Amino acid sequence: MSNIDLIIEEREADIGNFLVGRLLPFRKKRLVGPFCFIDHMGPVEFTDGTDFDVPPHPHIGLSTLTYLFEGSIMHRDSLGTAIEIKPGQVNWMTAGKGIVHSERTPDHLRGKPKGMHGLQIWVALPKDKEFMEPSFFHAGEDQLPTWEQDGVRITLVAGEAFGKRSPVPVHSPLYFLDIQSTERSTLEIGKELFGESGLYILEGAIVNDGERFGPKQILVSKNPDLCAFTLEPGTRVFLFGGEPFPEDRHIHWNFVATERATIEEARQRWMAQDFPKIEGETEWVPLPG
Ligand code: MN
Repeated sequence: MSNIDLIIEEREADIGNFLVGRLLPFRKKRLVGPFCFIDHMGPVEFTDGTDFDVPPHPHIGLSTLTYLFEGSIMHRDSLGTAIEIKPGQVNWMTAGKGIVHSERTPDHLRGKPKGMHGLQIWVALPKDKEFMEPSFFHAGEDQLPTWEQDGVRITLVAGEAFGKRSPVPVHSPLYFLDIQSTERSTLEIGKELFGESGLYILEGAIVNDGERFGPKQILVSKNPDLCAFTLEPGTRVFLFGGEPFPEDRHIHWNFVATERATIEEARQRWMAQDFPKIEGETEWVPLPG
């Protein structure tokens, strides 16, 4: 019997000067563990010198996880952080009670041909940390646990799994794993994972219970004991999930909260420009109607 409960197909969404593939939230499955939003950015080639620009915008009630495969993004936030993220590195920004950030093509690449490909993920905060102080953490590629197992290469981007722990300071029990195969390999998961689990196929294909699944979909499992799945050669997948929260989450624009009133308050604060400012930035994204 198949262990797959639900299949989520990637859908096109417009985030300004950029088309993305939206994976979460999905109407039948809004969160997978604490993961409430996943966008697949690109792959896109800006051959005419177009730049990637997401002007200052606010967040509350979540952490953002940025993980690139190609290209480069300059992150600036209201804590004073200004850091360029490159493929294999992790940006983990915790909004808590409120943060503002911008994401742009770094100066040294502006106006030049360039590519962009990556994942932008939101992880909801547990209710008791919803209003925590905002913070920012950057991890270099060499800081993330990486190992070979059953013929595949695994990087633990965030959380805990397979007896290892990523330095990314997560706020609830979760995991986010980058798994790559060069040859046909069968990965034994056993009881390594916990909570709710999703498998996102970026490239290549996997076989589970005799069924083959290709790119641009998330397989949500009925339980985290996936046992095993086979990766075809040149496959890259992401296994993610964790303990689900006991309460629902309201997700509105860039805001996540357990109470509707918290979202409304954040809307009013952004309209009144009552969020902290980013040094050197004057633009801001207006609240959508
Ligand atoms: Mn953002």
